[in-house]
Amino acid sequence: MTAQIIDGKSCAAGLGDRIAESAADFRRDAGRAPGLAVVLVGTDPASEIYVRSKGRMARQLGMESFEHVLSADTTQEALLDLIAQLNADDTVDGILVQLPLPGHLDSLSVVEAISPAKDVDGLHPLNAGYLASGLPGLVSCTPLGCLMLLKETLGDLSGLDAIVVGRSILVGKPMAQLLLAENCTVTLAHSRTRDLPQKVGAADIVVAAVGSAEMIKGSWINPGATVIDVGTSRVIRDGKKELVGDVEFATASIAARAITPVPGGVGPMTIMCLMHNTVLAAYRRAGRPAPQLG
Ligand code: NAP
Repeated sequence: MTAQIIDGKSCAAGLGDRIAESAADFRRDAGRAPGLAVVLVGTDPASEIYVRSKGRMARQLGMESFEHVLSADTTQEALLDLIAQLNADDTVDGILVQLPLPGHLDSLSVVEAISPAKDVDGLHPLNAGYLASGLPGLVSCTPLGCLMLLKETLGDLSGLDAIVVGRSILVGKPMAQLLLAENCTVTLAHSRTRDLPQKVGAADIVVAAVGSAEMIKGSWINPGATVIDVGTSRVIRDGKKELVGDVEFATASIAARAITPVPGGVGPMTIMCLMHNTVLAAYRRAGRPAPQLG
């Protein structure tokens, strides 16, 4: 049997259409577009590409994009001042500070300074707490995108056994909370987990978020399982640079029921969920009923 390949690009395009419609409705009713401010400190080339593509995507979907590029030696105080200005600016609905920050800056206090209502990355401890408490907040973009892919593929997730491999604040922990809220029975695995192959093999849903090239083997996967591969690692294969996931795709795509490719799976959903969160934040801040987009 060969697994269904879950098409993240097409799922993201569908979500994008719904976001564009909601952004247009918001613009008509509120007299302004939803606004996303992206802050970049320094000149890391990968971060520059991410920031540019986020701005471009926001504009394509009919939103306002405010890009703030600060020099690598920006002080903590100057960065916090900018965040305070953005918090107070009514035309800004979402604030994203591109991580990682240069080493002399304290990321946690920067994230904590963002108004939770504008925290479209979903990293503020208050938003993490809302998620854990089952209250509405803003959810980290990558796990939100993974959940949308799972629901698109499987429909109702209630009662399914899920394993999330990796327990970061960015991906693993919010992913486990989202699956729990969908009534899955969740195992949250990490570097100290014993007998990972057996635990992966018992799961209907496997979400891999480790960052270790192809560490999860196809032979571990239950034939009925749906696999969401968040990991991205650059490897050299046959003398060529390749991007691979945490799951050994060649074998897992035969073993599983459905699987996301890398690239083209989770990645396109992550950026689209940032747009989703920006529109959601705009509606909530304006006191309007939030559209159902996901
Ligand atoms: P992270 O903060 O480095 O966390 C990695 C997690 O993996 C940790 O919880 C760690 O456990 C666990 N781990 C490490 N080795 C393990 C092992 N042998 N067995 C089981 N668990 C193990 O990484 P992250 O930020 O969550 O990102 C994970 C991956 O997803 C990276 O490749 C990243 O590039 C990718 N990513 C992709 C997207 C996208 O849009 N496609 C978005 C975000 C992240 P401990 O806690 O015990 O150390």
